[in-house]
Amino acid sequence: MKSGKLGINTICTHVGEVEDTQFKGAVSPLFMSSSYAYEAVAVKRYPRYFNTPNQEALSKKIARLEKCDAALIFGSGMAAISTTMLAFLHKGDHVVLPQTLYGGTYNFVVEEFHKFGIEYSFAKGFSEKDFSKEMQSNTKVIFIETPSNPLMRITDLAMISKLAKQHGVVTMIDNTFASPVNQTPADFGIDIIIHSATKYMGGHSDILAGAVAASEAHIKIIWNLAKNLGGSLSDYTVWLLERSMKTMVLRVKAQNKNAKKLATWLAQHPLVAKVYYPGLKNHPDYKLAKKQMKGFTGMLSFELKEAVDVDGFLKALKIIKPSMSLAGVESTILSPAKTSHALLSVEERKRQNISDGLLRFSLGIEESEDIITDIEEAFQKVSKLKKA
Ligand SMILES: *Cc1c(COP(=O)(O)O)cnc(C)c1O
Repeated sequence: MKSGKLGINTICTHVGEVEDTQFKGAVSPLFMSSSYAYEAVAVKRYPRYFNTPNQEALSKKIARLEKCDAALIFGSGMAAISTTMLAFLHKGDHVVLPQTLYGGTYNFVVEEFHKFGIEYSFAKGFSEKDFSKEMQSNTKVIFIETPSNPLMRITDLAMISKLAKQHGVVTMIDNTFASPVNQTPADFGIDIIIHSATKYMGGHSDILAGAVAASEAHIKIIWNLAKNLGGSLSDYTVWLLERSMKTMVLRVKAQNKNAKKLATWLAQHPLVAKVYYPGLKNHPDYKLAKKQMKGFTGMLSFELKEAVDVDGFLKALKIIKPSMSLAGVESTILSPAKTSHALLSVEERKRQNISDGLLRFSLGIEESEDIITDIEEAFQKVSKLKKA
């Protein structure tokens, strides 16, 4: 499928699909071969070269979704992030990153960069001043992540893109939380778009994968390193991911809707101290989110009042699963203080506003009424507050 203008659901369903010329089946056939004829192809086909029929098919779909020329599929989100950063950062180079960064990315930067002689600094906030303050003469990359985890702060994509152009540096975004349904950073001039496809692209909590979309020239630079590092994804999982992505828009829109409903409901609940959702008008970045996002995502965080026993509340839930990761069709919830941010000191958590009562909530596609009932019943079970 190549034709010019296609709607996002059509892209998800059809773009890139491998034609079954033999049996005319309705879906892409799966090619598990790790050995291909070496004639008549510029680059020999091999799974680690990212160019098997199924890898190429899915890459086309993801590139199109992110409005980029090309894409590569990786074995995990971290394989995509680490390979892409190392492809553009060499000894003596410097990268500016946000202070609130996905834990795995943060660990990669602070544990590995010194071995490569790569320098880094973290912006202290989300404004232009915060980022421009960190720019150095050897800065080569600005890496961002928006919305942020877990407080859902928004970074201005157009601002970052402008700042990067002024300094002649490459921009990268981790677009996992938004998904291509809610945010296409290429519209704002961001160069390289990275995903943990484990999340909204996979969407069923059963696939670990990553993806990078960019211009042909940037993808070539990433590919040159990627083939040496070897972080490609098995064709079987590539094929499963292609299948998952056909329903991505339907899932994500249902998740957006549930998150908005729950954010509104939680915001008026007497046991909830605060709700963090960029789709609520009182969120500090509501206007910016509205400007650059097509939906406010299926993610939100909320803080329980001190009177509520957090562990008891989580244990009392019946539908919502207290578990790691996010973006599956099933609603999940976790305590950042006990999981993603557990290794930070108490003071650092306090500085970042990560309280013990804070919960990160990933909305699934269940009926919103059932999710509300689940929370209400759990509240009733553990509430130490006397009913009025
Ligand atoms: C999960 C996640 C990653 C890492 O992806 P893996 O597939 O687990 O390697 C990176 N960034 C964000 C925002 C994530 O949520």
